[in-house]
Amino acid sequence: MNTILFIGPPASGKGTQAALLAQHLGFKHISTGKMLRDMKKTNTELAEIMDSGNLVPDDLVLDALYSKLESENLFEKLILDGTPRSAYQYVKMRDWFASKGFPIDKVIYITLSEEEAVRRLSARREDKVTGATYNLLTNPPGDDVNPDNLIIREDDKPETIKNRFKVYHDQTEPMIVEMEKDGILRKFDGERDINVIFEEILEEFKK
Ligand code: AMP
Repeated sequence: MNTILFIGPPASGKGTQAALLAQHLGFKHISTGKMLRDMKKTNTELAEIMDSGNLVPDDLVLDALYSKLESENLFEKLILDGTPRSAYQYVKMRDWFASKGFPIDKVIYITLSEEEAVRRLSARREDKVTGATYNLLTNPPGDDVNPDNLIIREDDKPETIKNRFKVYHDQTEPMIVEMEKDGILRKFDGERDINVIFEEILEEFKK
């Protein structure tokens, strides 16, 4: 087991579960959302796309991800969170990772209803210094976190949430069919408690 992907709709908890699993297994955790949020600080075009809840163009994400993995040599024991997000990205990434000798082993797919996602997103906060994400309902920040650093992500604002779901249904869902065909998809119900889901995901790695 080397290359693991975490996917799911907005607020499904994929970032939280990816971080927990990375810590548990001693894997590296790369979030393309975080990577792109760092990039958008100096790129207004990117900021405009992301702040409206749209996907960044496929080849831009893939190029940025590939150059990060190559320049920092991050191939071994890798968890990718929030990517791929289209059938095009999936097929490209699948072939690229295989050509590097690190084929994608498993995709952890966390499901969530749109209703629950809206509830969660409105309670989500991000630490603008560390990039860590919290949820005031399900995963509140600890005492060591400075509340002044907690912000609402631009794309978590109500007017943007609706568009993110449309984008998810139109562009990301078709990729799931491809993953299913490849036999690497494992599906988890994200409506439950973080620890319950994590225990279930861990079972997948004991097999
Ligand atoms: P996330 O933190 O995973 O919710 O990602 C935040 C935003 O980053 C998304 O709404 C997209 O605009 C962008 N993004 C992250 N990963 C990708 C990807 N693989 N392809 C296209 N856009 C992405």
